[in-house]
Amino acid sequence: MRPNYRFFALYFRWQVACQRTEYYDIIMTKRTKIAKVLSSPEVGQQITVKGWVRTKRASKNVAFVALNDGSTIKNLQVVVSPEQFEEDLITRITTGSCLAVGGRVVESQGSGQNVELEASTIEVYGEADPELYPLQPKKHSLEFLREIAHLRPRTNTFGAIFRIRHAMIFAVHKFFHDKGFVNIHTPIITGSDAEGAGETFRVTTLDPKNPPLTQDGAIDFKEDFFEREANLTVSGQLEGELAALALSEIYTFGPTFRAENSNTSRHLSEFWMIEPEMAFYDINDSMDLGEEMLRFLVNYALEQCADDLDFLEKRALDEEKSKPQAERSEMSLLERLKFVVENDFARITYTEAIDILRNSKPNKKKKFSYLIEGWGSDLQSEHERYLVEKHFKKPVILFDYPKDIKSFYMRMNDDGKTVAAMDILFPGIGEIVGGSQREERYDHLLTRMQEMNIPDKEMWWYLDTRKFGTAPHSGFGLGFERMIQFITGMGNIRDVIPFPRTPGSCEF
Ligand code: ATP
Ligand code: MN
Repeated sequence: MRPNYRFFALYFRWQVACQRTEYYDIIMTKRTKIAKVLSSPEVGQQITVKGWVRTKRASKNVAFVALNDGSTIKNLQVVVSPEQFEEDLITRITTGSCLAVGGRVVESQGSGQNVELEASTIEVYGEADPELYPLQPKKHSLEFLREIAHLRPRTNTFGAIFRIRHAMIFAVHKFFHDKGFVNIHTPIITGSDAEGAGETFRVTTLDPKNPPLTQDGAIDFKEDFFEREANLTVSGQLEGELAALALSEIYTFGPTFRAENSNTSRHLSEFWMIEPEMAFYDINDSMDLGEEMLRFLVNYALEQCADDLDFLEKRALDEEKSKPQAERSEMSLLERLKFVVENDFARITYTEAIDILRNSKPNKKKKFSYLIEGWGSDLQSEHERYLVEKHFKKPVILFDYPKDIKSFYMRMNDDGKTVAAMDILFPGIGEIVGGSQREERYDHLLTRMQEMNIPDKEMWWYLDTRKFGTAPHSGFGLGFERMIQFITGMGNIRDVIPFPRTPGSCEF
């Protein structure tokens, strides 16, 4: 074969061209992340950094550019001397533009940083027209930033939140991995709607304008892609149980979808859930695991995300100042996090909780929107938060709920009235974890399914595990975004997921 001389010739010419241009440094030196420059600075070193301009302060003699590349909340100060660069280039450096800067690390003259970068080469990768760029160096409202979710990761607040979110994903896997749990991918498309109660998103390839019909006029799902009705999953639990009854301790960490019309600060239509499922655990073992996991995660954030948490702490204190005295929280964000790490959670039964709530001030003075009258009704978020924030002043685990307000798979207690369910309630959030000991007795489970109109024939595979080598087992679900809300102190769940999906909103 004839060697491709043309290629070599081009390559050689390109190399020579690079060496001649001012971009030589930029092309030939590897990029250093700003986090590294600031955490272990080497004064005198020649480096290249790349990032987005947060601010530029220019005077006649010098321009200071604050550059951020997302590796840390801190900016690197770049010093640009007008003697070295053309005015035209300096004017193209505006808030939001993207640069590659080569230069020398020097000790900083100004306060606020130890080192700065003396620029010797600058390439503007992308300009950002100041007339059009929506993120100006000032405080924007969270509502406004939701409308520009494609750009909000470039703010300090969202940079911090998404770095913490990443650290927490890692921490979740570390916690379970270190305990020997097996991570299982449960399906995202499911054929069962056992739990969905109609609050599922349908998955179909049928033509909505002209669907095939059965003889009695219903949509004929036999003609659909899966030859049956299919949905996006609302929980990986049922499949998780199948795996736990073989691998003994498993967890899932996947997306879940709920078509519930809850326009609250704690509900998303698409969210991520962590669902451990453990053979040979009773409800108490499961509560212990839940408490240990939450403490581990909070502690991990305190240890690994200090810079970002410090920023969010100050941010939260600023927010607090604008609230009336009565609504301010007693603890700061960091105090709340440390409190959770250092204190045991309260554990009480549903029945005890009802007694506390019935005799509480807001109930007697009819301040609750839903008054607590008798035993048996579901608790609303206002009740959960009263127990956590006013009565116990710490996280609370509620267990042994009335069977009628809970799911079919929860294990019946000997009283015949309650099931071995447990919810973990957190300050500012309400329910963060929901779980139970599962009904492992075949007859009890089948009876309960029939009583609650769960299609037991369709769920033969679930019942099979109770027929063949059944075992006591338990599990729970942790809403990942609610956890991130607690750790970051963000009031609205839409601000802890990069691109929130909620009723009426699916942009980006
Ligand atoms: P809630 O009563 O708050 O609507 P739930 O009882 O329906 O929650 P579960 O089915 O028990 O929730 O789900 C387990 C966990 O998943 C909850 O404890 C919560 O942390 C989280 N979660 C549930 N629904 C949502 C949602 N729509 N958006 C975000 N997280 C959710
Ligand atoms: Mn629940």
